[in-house]
Amino acid sequence: MAKRKPITCCPHCGSKEGIFTKTTYHRVPWRCGFNKEEQDNGEMYDNTEMITGGEIAYCQVCGKAICRMSTLRKQWEGTNDG
Ligand SMILES: [Zn+2]
Repeated sequence: MAKRKPITCCPHCGSKEGIFTKTTYHRVPWRCGFNKEEQDNGEMYDNTEMITGGEIAYCQVCGKAICRMSTLRKQWEGTNDG
């Protein structure tokens, strides 16, 4: 399998702030950093599966679509260090 470059910043504006999804769990977007570090999502951990497949990750800064969440999740799963 071809190695894909991990997504560590916004390809549009270069921001490393993180991403958000338009998942409306508790009517708030779900936010996290590019390393899966979650950011200020409040109390929303009733279930382990708080985000479901198919969402798009958007840049927190410029708001443009970056990639699919599934891409990020694969990236996170495949990374044990960092
Ligand atoms: Zn951006």
